[in-house]
Amino acid sequence: MRMGIDIGGTKIVAGIVDNSGKVVARKKIFVGHQKRYPVVRDAIADMVLDLLSEKTIPRESLKRIGLACAGQIDKDFKKIIFSPNLGWHNAPIREDIEALLGINAFVENDVNAATYGEWRFGAAKGTGHVLGVFIGTGIGGGIIINGKVFRGFRNAGAEIGHIILNPFGYPCNCCNTGCFEAYCGGAYIVERVKKHIKNGYRGKIWELINGDISILNAGHVESGADIGDGLCKNIWNEVLEYLGAGLASMVNLLNPEIIVLGGGVVYGTHHLIEDVKPILKKRSMAASLKNMRIVKAKLKEDAAIIGAAFVEP
Ligand SMILES: [Zn+2]
Repeated sequence: MRMGIDIGGTKIVAGIVDNSGKVVARKKIFVGHQKRYPVVRDAIADMVLDLLSEKTIPRESLKRIGLACAGQIDKDFKKIIFSPNLGWHNAPIREDIEALLGINAFVENDVNAATYGEWRFGAAKGTGHVLGVFIGTGIGGGIIINGKVFRGFRNAGAEIGHIILNPFGYPCNCCNTGCFEAYCGGAYIVERVKKHIKNGYRGKIWELINGDISILNAGHVESGADIGDGLCKNIWNEVLEYLGAGLASMVNLLNPEIIVLGGGVVYGTHHLIEDVKPILKKRSMAASLKNMRIVKAKLKEDAAIIGAAFVEP
């Protein structure tokens, strides 16, 4: 048995993972306003103990606790150097969890972990070269080369969301302009549509969301485009065009065997992958794209939990 823990900015989910990569038990806690590292760390330790006692699993039978967190992890997989979601700097989470619980721990970037999970047990099982792109609020990326996670010189690589698709483009939360995620990240897409609605736009999208702007998500924008809402059509076509361009750039660079697309925008839309295929074809080098598959992630919310439980340095 292993345990994987997905540490997000609003919730933390722990799962007990068996040797076949299945989550057999899970527990969720919410992170309140108190996001200070020692508070959250202790809550994680309590959560592990609660889950083990609920399932009457002895501590000794856990081979590892894998911790997945957004942000940069140090070269030794011990500290979270910086986590944008939680505002942590140099959090020594691996050693702290090991000291508190007496169980081996490991810490990995959440999207690296999710991509590894998909490679080992999910949609990319049996392949060698994988590009994982997770489109939620922003965009996270993971790269597997010859079955190994590619992390770069200082474990800060594979930031696919911040490859620059247009130097003169939309502002990104990273302070740059024209990043992939500024075009295709869910929060950015929604913000662009909202801006027009706030300025008085009332098309078919207005009926689709029953006039409640707070529920608007990327799925509504796709559906709005499908039923002929002019604003949604413009914005969604732009999203697809940039998504195709971003993926094509990665295909030309990496020549992956498979692209696994995951995240809320992918799960919450109906035909994103089908729509992006012709754009990808138009913009990729033919040799780099040949025989490549592009598929939806399979493990959904469990991907980072499962990946963190098994991922190797
Ligand atoms: Zn950026």
